[in-house]
Amino acid sequence: MHNIKAANKLKINTVIKNLEKRGIEGHYCETKEEAAELILSMIPDQSIVSWGGSATVNTLGVKEKLAERDLETIDPYSTSDLDESIERRRRGLLADYYLMSTNALTMDGELVNIDGTSNRVAALCFGPKKVLVVAGANKLVLGLDDAIARAKLNAAVPNNVRLKRNNPCTITGTCSNCLSKECICCNIVTTRYCSIPGRIQVILVNEELGF
Ligand code: SF4
Repeated sequence: MHNIKAANKLKINTVIKNLEKRGIEGHYCETKEEAAELILSMIPDQSIVSWGGSATVNTLGVKEKLAERDLETIDPYSTSDLDESIERRRRGLLADYYLMSTNALTMDGELVNIDGTSNRVAALCFGPKKVLVVAGANKLVLGLDDAIARAKLNAAVPNNVRLKRNNPCTITGTCSNCLSKECICCNIVTTRYCSIPGRIQVILVNEELGF
């Protein structure tokens, strides 16, 4: 365990250097508590904050802390009304701060995300003034092929199971690149450069977080 943590620290430090050349700021956090504290310190009062669906962000407990502060939160997932949820996702694209994780992050600093409704990848590409991406060390992969494979096998398949979708992967446990009506893999987005320096901030945590 000690060696894995030590190796993950080396990996994260390398990724942070490689993010920098892509106009993306990286931050190292030893624990999820440290990451939560950092995120909360990055968001000033009076801001508008929204987020994409993310097991990682949910684990941090930051949404609850933000709700107690003098700022506006837009939560698309706290309503069962689909029209209202879509409307909040649309409004979330104009937030000051947007919280999300990433399905995979290459050692060279590229983020890979698969999305169904695609509000999350839309926000990553354009809209919110700042995007705070939190990722556990389990999201790190060697290259782009591994990133897409991880995003499909380790994120899209469990998400299909969670959502009880009638797709081939909920039967086989693997991705067959379906074009099913219930497919949740509509857009696969690779973020390789950020033309507004620092707009995307990646908070890397030396723990296993999310999937
Ligand atoms: S089988 Fe279809 S829904 Fe399932 S992970 Fe692959 S593309 Fe996505």
